[in-house]
Amino acid sequence: MIKVFEHNELSRVGQLQSVLEADGIRTHIKNEFTNSAFGEILFSKAIPELWILDDDDLVKAKGLLAEIAGFEENPEPEWTCAECNSVVDGVFERCWKCNAQRPESGTES
Ligand SMILES: [Zn+2]
Repeated sequence: MIKVFEHNELSRVGQLQSVLEADGIRTHIKNEFTNSAFGEILFSKAIPELWILDDDDLVKAKGLLAEIAGFEENPEPEWTCAECNSVVDGVFERCWKCNAQRPESGTES
């Protein structure tokens, strides 16, 4: 087992866990119940930790976590609607003006 992430908000750790699990990586959260069950004293000592069960998944897990962190620091760029030429914020999948779908972003994957 290797610890790959820790955060004092369990919801944050759980979110990353679901991303890793969705990619076939088996995970375990430590200190999951510290927050609600034991109160402040333990909470300050033990924040929720995300562990991977299989050490071989480390590179993959780190890659996924880095990807998530990257998205947060660099939000989706805005895009220009092909139908009406409106500039649309990157978080939206559809044009706010004419409801056209965002064009596929090239062939990179
Ligand atoms: Zn449009």
